[in-house]
Amino acid sequence: MEMDTVIGLEIHAQLNTRTKLFCSCPTEFGAEPNTNICEVCTGQPGALPRMNGLALELAAKAGLALGSKVNERSLFSRKNYFYPDLPNGFQTSQLDPPVCEGGGLEITSDDGTPKRVRLNRIHMEDDAGKCVHDELRGITKVDLNRAGTPLIEIVTEPDISSAREAVEFLKKLHGLLVRLGVTKGRMEEGEFRCDVNISLKPKGSPVLGVRGEIKNLNSFRFVGQAIEYEIGRQTEIYAAGGRVLQETLHFDSQKGETRSLRSKEEAHDYRYFPQPDLPPVYISPDLVERLRTELPEGPEEAFGRLLALGLKDVQARLLMDRRGALEYFDSARDAWKGPVAGAARICSLMEELFLPHCQKEGTSPLESPFTPDLMAKLAGLAEDGTLGRRKVQELAEQLFAEGLDPEKVVKERGLAQISDESELARLAAEVVAAHPQEAAKFRAGQEKILSFMVGKLMKLSAGRAEPRRAGELLKAALAVGGTGSGTAG
Ligand code: ADP
Ligand code: MG
Ligand code: ZN
Repeated sequence: MEMDTVIGLEIHAQLNTRTKLFCSCPTEFGAEPNTNICEVCTGQPGALPRMNGLALELAAKAGLALGSKVNERSLFSRKNYFYPDLPNGFQTSQLDPPVCEGGGLEITSDDGTPKRVRLNRIHMEDDAGKCVHDELRGITKVDLNRAGTPLIEIVTEPDISSAREAVEFLKKLHGLLVRLGVTKGRMEEGEFRCDVNISLKPKGSPVLGVRGEIKNLNSFRFVGQAIEYEIGRQTEIYAAGGRVLQETLHFDSQKGETRSLRSKEEAHDYRYFPQPDLPPVYISPDLVERLRTELPEGPEEAFGRLLALGLKDVQARLLMDRRGALEYFDSARDAWKGPVAGAARICSLMEELFLPHCQKEGTSPLESPFTPDLMAKLAGLAEDGTLGRRKVQELAEQLFAEGLDPEKVVKERGLAQISDESELARLAAEVVAAHPQEAAKFRAGQEKILSFMVGKLMKLSAGRAEPRRAGELLKAALAVGGTGSGTAG
């Protein structure tokens, strides 16, 4: 029977705070065991927790960026269970209401169409400590440095249909949260990890199958491997007419297999109840609005802004699609000293010359030795006519590759386009005088000969004349010469 894969993710991200969620112990990674601890995070009787305000802001920020609703009031509960590294005997988490609800993130589905993975909720909770197993001595030690570290848990709806989709979703989410500063996201340190819930059902059936839950995956590759393995395992069970059990699984990355840890507990096993030591959490609408203004701009916003700057659709899209291009463009515009037209000029230089160069070199624009500041200078020289189009094209490769300052290059090599009209007129007269035969042909009606004369003038000026203006002045010079040599006589 053909089966659909159904996946829902629970992602834990460590919030980027200096101190823990309910005390002021540092959250730093890798300290001597049991040095970053106090009465609160080791669960001493009578010690009272106080919530870290920054953790709340970061959680709300994540929600805003993901289109969630931020609840003005949320509540911490005790989620009771026993672990040797959980000194309180409960995890302080949010059941109802959580800090954020709803939202989603768009990915590309396996059939190539855009697809929104909906979020169920985002809640805050504290992390547990760590058990360190000493195999040699046959003992287990407990390190509570991590106990009380602030996390958000992001729970998706079961909207994901394959390992590839899950990995794309996670990479996108990770990138977004890191860019927002919500988490540092160092996966090897466990700052971004996820539980994968996965089940199979007959193709097209509206009823979800029984799920396995693979715990604590901390690399994108493991997520992909674990899902593929689990699809295979469940498929075999169904093919043999068996039943998949709801259980919690561990992924053994050495063997590439999942293995059962325990049968799944139900929510009521945790005996959630409101944590009496903490008041409800309030976040004011003003603060939420301030956080909203601090968000980096989303793709639609960016697109609108670029069009408003006078860029064409394709140009805006180009800047948004190439990694680092939009940031580069924005920095160049910040460095631009001239009048309003900067955006279009910078963009066309990037589009025609700079981005193709970067692509050829295989570097991001931001890594190029030709910095946005230099681009702003180049755009300025092109805009005020100091450098003609052809000169810019000639110089581009060298400027970009060596990160040269275009203003210096123009000065040192005497490249500035001749803007002095009398100087250009003198050159035009010189060209006409040096080519009497061609001049006569032109006067006899062979207008095509003009481009030959323009070429001569460009050469004489070492490429520093503007070709259209040169043509105009040549025509004027030819006309003068014509009357002078006697058609009227
Ligand atoms: P818990 O794991 O704490 O019991 P939930 O029941 O809320 O919590 O589900 C957690 C995750 O499992 C969510 O991401 C949800 O989308 C996903 N999920 C729930 N049922 C299924 C299913 N049958 N198949 C795959 N994923 C599921
Ligand atoms: Mg779960
Ligand atoms: Zn502490």
